[in-house]
Amino acid sequence: MERISNLLSSFLYIETFSILVVAFCSWRRRKALGALPLFFLCLCSAVYAFGYGMEITSTSLRDVNLWGKIEYLGLAFIPSLWIIQAHSLAAKDKKISRTCISILFIIPILTVIFRYTNDYFHLMYRNETLINNGYFYVLSYQKCFWYYLYYIFFYVCMIISIAMYYKAFSKAVGLERHQLKIMVCASISVLFFEGFDQFQIVPLKMDYGAFIMFFVYVVFAYAVYPFDMMHIIPMSREIIFDWVYDGVLVVDTDFNLKDFNYAAKEVFKALDRSIIGTKIESCTREAPEFGKSLKMWCRSKKEYSQENLPESFKEDVFEFSIVSVDNISYFKARPKALYYKGYKIGSTILISNVTKEKNIIFELEKMAKFDQLTGILNRRCFIELVGNKLTELEKQDDKGILFMFDIDYFKQVNDTYGHQAGDYILKEIAYISKSKIRDKDFIGRYGGEEFIAFLPKLTLKEAVSLIESIRAAFENYNFIYEDIPIKVTASFGVSEYCKKESGEYFSYNEIVKNADIALYKAKESGRNRVSVS
Ligand code: GH3
Ligand code: MG
Ligand code: MG
Repeated sequence: MERISNLLSSFLYIETFSILVVAFCSWRRRKALGALPLFFLCLCSAVYAFGYGMEITSTSLRDVNLWGKIEYLGLAFIPSLWIIQAHSLAAKDKKISRTCISILFIIPILTVIFRYTNDYFHLMYRNETLINNGYFYVLSYQKCFWYYLYYIFFYVCMIISIAMYYKAFSKAVGLERHQLKIMVCASISVLFFEGFDQFQIVPLKMDYGAFIMFFVYVVFAYAVYPFDMMHIIPMSREIIFDWVYDGVLVVDTDFNLKDFNYAAKEVFKALDRSIIGTKIESCTREAPEFGKSLKMWCRSKKEYSQENLPESFKEDVFEFSIVSVDNISYFKARPKALYYKGYKIGSTILISNVTKEKNIIFELEKMAKFDQLTGILNRRCFIELVGNKLTELEKQDDKGILFMFDIDYFKQVNDTYGHQAGDYILKEIAYISKSKIRDKDFIGRYGGEEFIAFLPKLTLKEAVSLIESIRAAFENYNFIYEDIPIKVTASFGVSEYCKKESGEYFSYNEIVKNADIALYKAKESGRNRVSVS
């Protein structure tokens, strides 16, 4: 008999120690959600378990009674702390009020008082006797009013806690759901074990609840700390949401605005908390393409499999721009569908301002296409564009005119007025010639002070008269560099893009060669003239 009581009490002492370890860990992490109530729960349970361990080994009514009183210093507070713990984990952000806490502790404090004064007032038990349950001595008594009240309070608190955990569990997802499930199970097991003795389900009279405390708190500790993460992660996500440089918009499946961050307000000025719920188009009026593209993207996701997606949506990116009085801003939007339990509930769109990158790209494209000094096409781009045009004209069985011109005695200009004056002349020459030709014509800098142009769909006669007017314009223009007037002329060589006698069209190289020969002729025959090959 003594062996069993010693074994059980040893278990309870080890349990006390283990619960104190959990209490110590909870205290160290007391800032974590639910850790502080867990700390007090552990302290009270340790008192309860230790008291019960001592009670089991006691053999006199006086000692059993004494340790019973000590047990109540912990036991009485467990139901209130259980409810506070459940509230802190299930209701998360909502803090329990001081008044509420005070009310919750009225019954436990009175229970302790009545337990300690029981010898005088008998509010909890009467007729206490010591009986042997076969293994150790236990107190047998007649239950009084406050005893019932305390246990009703105990069960009500436990049931409310389970309900709170269950309510939160039914709404939670992922890890949080898993943790809340654990808390529900742990609370039910306490209720269950405590009931063993209360309702005499098991014949052996013993406090079963005291033996499972340790397991319950280990489970609690396991559940509490990830909860802390659950609390921190959404908080940090919220901060990042408003802190990131990129704009974020959230829309539901009907394209109603649901949320936006601070950076998104910088893009769409109309964004305001008051317009949440309105159609996305009305919030993003600055960029009408935005709403349209977003809808197209959503539709494309529904209509096409990933392989057949339109090219622009393959990478889940679309671009849009916002034009203001003095500039254009470019943006890249990255939409992502939002799913909940397998159902699409909306989309979130990340918006990055790519104006700087776009402008660099435009600048690079410009550099690749245009001559830096004169701003007209460079030789490489001229060849590419005119090459394409020739193919088009050939298909249409049409013609065109190519002409080249070279500034006369340009070396002398450089030598007399300086290289910068020469540059100025080159710019002016390019400007004058460009202003004389049509928009659909092409003009490029062939190299040095040589220029090349192509006039699609003009007859030789029309072209020569146009080229003659350009020549005259140079001749008559008053080039003035640093107040010094400079006279400049140029010689022109013209060739026609048409079919040869063989029926084949001239090639690009052939018409350039012909124009060059004509230009040479113009130079030879006195310069400042137009020569046709
Ligand atoms: P012509 O064509 O009438 O026979 O005589 P020219 O003096 O124009 O002959 P040439 O083709 O020998 O001279 C071309 C000159 O153009 C030489 C070079 O210094 C000048 N040149 C070429 N590229 C540039 C440029 O980008 N800026 C300036 N300022 N001069 C240039
Ligand atoms: Mg030259
Ligand atoms: Mg020259």
